[in-house]
Amino acid sequence: MTDSVYLDHNATTPMRPQAIAAMAEVMASVGNASSVHTFGRAARSQLDRARASIADLVGAQAADIVFTGGGTEANNAVLQGAHRRRVIVSAIEHDSVRLASDAETARVTSDGVIDLAALSRMLASSSEPALVCVMLANNETGIVQPVAEVARIAHAAQALVHCDAVQAAGRIAIDMAALGVDYLTLSAHKLGGPQGVGAVALRAGVPFTASQRGGGQERGRRAGTENVAGIAGFGVAAKIATQDLHASAALAALRDKMEHDLVQLAPDAHVFGSRASRLPNTSCVAMPGVAATTQLMALDLAGVAVSAGSACSSGKVKPSHVLAAMGASETEAASALRVSLGWTTTADHIGRFVEAWSDLYRRLSPASRPATVAA
Ligand code: PLP
Repeated sequence: MTDSVYLDHNATTPMRPQAIAAMAEVMASVGNASSVHTFGRAARSQLDRARASIADLVGAQAADIVFTGGGTEANNAVLQGAHRRRVIVSAIEHDSVRLASDAETARVTSDGVIDLAALSRMLASSSEPALVCVMLANNETGIVQPVAEVARIAHAAQALVHCDAVQAAGRIAIDMAALGVDYLTLSAHKLGGPQGVGAVALRAGVPFTASQRGGGQERGRRAGTENVAGIAGFGVAAKIATQDLHASAALAALRDKMEHDLVQLAPDAHVFGSRASRLPNTSCVAMPGVAATTQLMALDLAGVAVSAGSACSSGKVKPSHVLAAMGASETEAASALRVSLGWTTTADHIGRFVEAWSDLYRRLSPASRPATVAA
């Protein structure tokens, strides 16, 4: 494993050692953040510190951060807690948004960007005030959405706006006020914190009813004893992410060089969203004629871990609704790999991926084989 190349940071990124250290310290101590004694107050101050770091990462107020058990729970909490009967979600949302309610779907263009004119028409078609959900950056392609524009259009139609920033946080700068959104969701394990911890950042005063009841924690907005160690790890990771945002430029350079090298060798390779604004760390690339599962397994044998373009949450690769929404054919989508870089990625890792991918292309791609001469 130590010699392996990990390029699946959008699935989960390695924890920052400082976050692990902070968690270990909390786990070695005792204290329920709701207790009034010294131990409880120490636990509470861990939560306060983390809340401040996470608010800082996204330009929110610390008092408006609600901790959850991950990004999926955060998204579900908004979809239920905003109390809007009409919900509109973009066609490329993560399943934790797409499937969290009975929603109408807003289309995206072939560049993978929400169609703002179509969204305006949808909003105008009913006087029922809606909740509009548009992610900041897509988990499969990295394509960044014009969320500030979405918020402007949606607010003009009295809609509320939710933005899933799970993949964007720590990779691009986020200012919740500048985006103008009412709800923003985060997940710790995509930015160097632990799995199973997330947050909803609220705009002050927006409706938000707790979907989980049975305790007054998180100011009555999410019942249940807080995961103090996990939240402390989240806070430390968020702080490092804020300080390290400048490292994104180097990641983008590595990603761009990688795509350049792949396309040089394989002119038929297709990079999804290459014309759109993208996260610096993500590439979704199709090797036509070779199933993504075949590529995944061969790369794994070569010691390189990536993921199928069609994100899998159950270990199974399913057709990608994201690539389908961009107009990709089923066969093209089925040959797409997602390569996602992160804070541990080096130029050597990228070189090894390009080498393994090129080897595979030469062996398996129909385009790289000389045409057979008919007898
Ligand atoms: N939203 C997006 C865009 C994601 O990529 C993911 C995870 O892949 C989630 C939400 C869910 O987050 P979690 O894994 O913390 O439940």
